[in-house]
Amino acid sequence: MLEVKDLHVSYGGIRALRGVDIEVPDGKIVTLIGANGAGKSTLLRTISGLVKAESGSITYNGKEILGMSINKILELGIAQVPEGRRVFTNLTVLENLRIGAYLRRDRDGIQKDIDWVYELFPRLQERSWQMAGTLSGGEQQMLAVGRALMSRPKLMMMDEPSLGLAPLVVKGIFEIIREINRQGVTVLLIEQNANMALKTADLACVLETGTITLRGTGAELLTNEAVKRAYLGE
Ligand code: ATP
Repeated sequence: MLEVKDLHVSYGGIRALRGVDIEVPDGKIVTLIGANGAGKSTLLRTISGLVKAESGSITYNGKEILGMSINKILELGIAQVPEGRRVFTNLTVLENLRIGAYLRRDRDGIQKDIDWVYELFPRLQERSWQMAGTLSGGEQQMLAVGRALMSRPKLMMMDEPSLGLAPLVVKGIFEIIREINRQGVTVLLIEQNANMALKTADLACVLETGTITLRGTGAELLTNEAVKRAYLGE
């Protein structure tokens, strides 16, 4: 279980997160929705150790991870799929996947997981030797997810995986998120596509200007009037 308590984060003097509490129980899909600039990416980046917090606590299975290095956090099993896909464009698909396993030394396990990722994304297998920069947007997103999976995460955090993708591709990405979760990976998902995110998630929170203003099951928030008005365009 990941537990964030009373988290405050500032950039210079500007508060991005003001007392955020969030729980991500093992085995669940939890989504965080919110408008541009609400602080969603900041929360993920603080959990992965990329951004320093001002105060509060983040524990993973009871262990404080705030202040730990990025590699230590990754070793504990928390991996992030960054926003905007960010694959290594001058490397092949396979090389990108191998980079995702950079902290691992178990060669057999790594090979097995490459096969696992190729099973989840047959499209990547077909394009194993293709330069990542020449993949389509949807394929690059698959590769970014595949690369994160190569660290064998227990918790995978995803920053707007549907951004800029065609509706059909988005559907495919959400199906994969469900499949990865069925295979035992806990998911913390940030999305502006509130409709798909709430349909996919077990639990959901709304983040507004650095504060959680609503929480419930995905189904509850889907039918919440304020959520419908602000995030579902109804
Ligand atoms: P989006 O959906 O648009 O990506 P978000 O909810 O992920 O938004 P954040 O990226 O976390 O929002 O940003 C929260 C606030 O912090 C914004 O006002 C943003 O301008 C500010 N911010 C983010 N990163 C920095 C930074 N490195 N330096 C200064 N301010 C920052």
